[in-house]
Amino acid sequence: MSDLRRALPSVGALLETVEVRALLAVTPRGLVVNAVRDVVARARAADGSTPADAPAWTRAVAEQVAAARRPSLRRVINATGVVLHTNLGRAPLPRAALEAMTTVSAGYSNLEYDLAIGGRGSRYAHCAALLTELTGADDALVVNNCAAALVLALNTMAQDREVIISRGELVEIGGSFRVFDIMAKSGARRREVGSTNRTHLADYAAAMTPDTGAIVKVHRSNFDVVGYTAEVPVRDLAPLARAHDVPVLHDLGSGLLIGLDEIGLTGEPTARDALAAGADVVVMSGDKLLGGPQAGLIVGKARYLAAMRANPFARAFRVDKMTLAALEATLALYRDPAVAFRDIPVLAMLATPLESIRQRAMRCRDALRAGGMESEVADAVGSVGAGAFPTATIPSIALVLHGDAERWTAALRGGEPAIVGRVHDGRALLDLRTVPDDDVSILVDAVLAAAPDLPEAARRSDA
Ligand SMILES: *Cc1c(COP(=O)(O)O)cnc(C)c1O
Repeated sequence: MSDLRRALPSVGALLETVEVRALLAVTPRGLVVNAVRDVVARARAADGSTPADAPAWTRAVAEQVAAARRPSLRRVINATGVVLHTNLGRAPLPRAALEAMTTVSAGYSNLEYDLAIGGRGSRYAHCAALLTELTGADDALVVNNCAAALVLALNTMAQDREVIISRGELVEIGGSFRVFDIMAKSGARRREVGSTNRTHLADYAAAMTPDTGAIVKVHRSNFDVVGYTAEVPVRDLAPLARAHDVPVLHDLGSGLLIGLDEIGLTGEPTARDALAAGADVVVMSGDKLLGGPQAGLIVGKARYLAAMRANPFARAFRVDKMTLAALEATLALYRDPAVAFRDIPVLAMLATPLESIRQRAMRCRDALRAGGMESEVADAVGSVGAGAFPTATIPSIALVLHGDAERWTAALRGGEPAIVGRVHDGRALLDLRTVPDDDVSILVDAVLAAAPDLPEAARRSDA
C-alpha cells in the first residue's frame, strides 16, 4: 500500500503530461487543475481507484473533467410508473408551455408593462383572467407554490386570529413538511377540532369565537381515512362561516380544473366545484395534476385576493416570467378538455390506454432482443403521485429486466440519460406508462449501455 502511494504522480507532473496538456488546450485551466487534484486525492485515499498506468491517469482526469462539466440538474427518464413524481420534477410541461417560456424569456416581455397605456402594469394580470374563466372565481393570483399560497392566504385572512381545522386534516405533505407548521408560520393560530377519524359540524360551531379568522379545509392528499369516519364538506361549513362572517379557505392540494372521471379518477373536487360549494378562497398547486409549472394558484373572492396582492408576502412569493408564461399556456389548453387530455403530458399519460402501453413495452422488448438482451413484458401497477388520488392504482405495463435488480437500477441511474425504475419482488421493472413513445429508443439505448456482458457492438438499437 505504502509503495503504491509513493508511486503517485504529483499534480504538477500530471499537468505536464502530453495528454493533460492536450486537454488544457480545450478546457478552462481551473477545471483541469481541480480534476487532477481530485483524481490524485482519490488515489491517495487508496479507495481502490488508483490508476494503473499513465494512460489510465489521464483517462481518469478526462473523466473527472467530463463529470464536472455535466450539469447538476439534468434530464431523467421516469420509468417508475408514478406519473407525478415529486423527486423527478413532478409535471413534464406541455409543448405549448415550453414554447411560451422560450418566446417570453429569450428577450424582453410585458411582464409588468401595460402595452395599452404605455406604463407600468402588473405581473399578476397575466394568468388571472384565464383562472377566473376556468374556475368561475371573481379573482385569481399566482405565487411560487401551493405552500406559499397557503401562507399568503392565511397571513392575509387570519393573522393573529384562530383558524379552525379538523384533526383529520393535519396533513404532512412530504419532505416532512406539515400543513399545520406552515399555518403556524403564517401567524394564524391553529384551533383543532374533532378527532382523527370523525369531525362534525357541531365541532366547528363550538369552536367559533369572535377571535376566529377562518375555517380551513385541507385536502387529504396522500392518505385516506376509512372505517368509522365523518368529515364536514365545504358545502356545510360555508353557511356556518357565513353566519359568523368568517371566510372558508380550501387547500385543494393538487387542484383540478376539469374532472378526471373519464379516465377513472373520481371523487376529487375541481376548483370550480370547491368555489361553488362555498369556499371563499381556494389554493392549489400548478405542477401536480394541473400539469403545469411549479406555482401556487389562489382563486376566490375579490376582496381577499386584493388584500393578498397588497400583502408584502406576495412580493416575497412572486413568480418569474418563465412560470407565468408556462402557466398561461398550460391553462389555455384547458379551454377545450379534449385538447387538455391530448396536450398536457400528465393528463395524456394518465389517459393512455393499457393496450398502447403494452405495444410500447413490446417494442422495447423487441429492440432489446435485437441488441442481444432478453427481457419480459409484464403487468404492473402505477400511481398518480404527488398527493393526488392517494389510493388509486393505475394498471400499467412494465419491462422486467433479468438479473440482479439492484445492479440494474444502479447502472441505469448512472447512465446518460439516467433512467429511474423500480424494484418489485426483487426484480428490476421499467414501467412504461411514464415513458413517452418519443423516448422509447433513448430508453432502449440506455438499457443496452447499462447491460452487463453485451458486446460493444450490440449496445446500439434501431428502435
Ligand atoms: C402538495 C400540497 C401542498 C403543497 O403544494 P406545493 O405546490 O408543493 O407547495 C399543500 N397542501 C396540500 C394539501 C398538498 O397536497
